[in-house]
Amino acid sequence: MQLPRMSTLVATYQQVQSRIHRACEQTGRPRSEVKLLAVSKTKPATMVKEIYDQGQRSFGENYLQDALDKIEALTELTDIEWHFIGPIQSNKTRPIAENFQWVETLEREKIAQRLNEQRPAELPPLNVLIQVNISGEAQKSGLKSEEVADFADLIATLPNLTLRGLMCIPEATEDEQKLAQQFDNMHKLLQSLQNKHPQCDTLSMGMSADLELAVKHHTTQVRIGTDIFGARA
Ligand SMILES: *Cc1c(COP(=O)(O)O)cnc(C)c1O
Repeated sequence: MQLPRMSTLVATYQQVQSRIHRACEQTGRPRSEVKLLAVSKTKPATMVKEIYDQGQRSFGENYLQDALDKIEALTELTDIEWHFIGPIQSNKTRPIAENFQWVETLEREKIAQRLNEQRPAELPPLNVLIQVNISGEAQKSGLKSEEVADFADLIATLPNLTLRGLMCIPEATEDEQKLAQQFDNMHKLLQSLQNKHPQCDTLSMGMSADLELAVKHHTTQVRIGTDIFGARA
């Protein structure tokens, strides 16, 4: 019997799904606890549509114009969920507030205020995550752990934003113990945040190279680009 031909993209997408399934099984977590964010930055709308047709709904974008072109091209897919995961310039907040369902890289009060003001009244509140510089590297975006609580309290006063949790990009290292420590510190930080902000249910961490480790260390959302869509130019 001849098997139906499967595209490379569908095959790599299904491999990533299997890795998440297996990682959940091995750590005794229900698969439903770990969401997959497909990071489609720099990749065309046709590729987004192809894995949308496989059931994928959440997509991550870093570059505003690139993202807006795709959002425009795919407006008929009304249940698609766009996450902004790049650095945010203050003169670019309006299109983000108008076109995305999530912002995962919030770290400045001014940006939070602007997103709150510019979120259209007819849309539900924008879901936001606070980006944490969990490795403490000097060049890296994100708040220090000890700054998170106050920033969370500020976000809680903004009616058009809903704080959903925390996001990090850990150190680029092969040292698994170091990574595991940073993931665990994020988990503790989320737990302490939940005392005052119980709606915080999201820990966004884990990328192509460290998906399994992140699942083991309590991630609720992995952000996968390369292993689904291939290397970026
Ligand atoms: C590009 C990017 C990813 C995806 O990384 P891959 O290594 O391609 O899986 C995840 N998170 C953020 C914030 C990114 O910018």
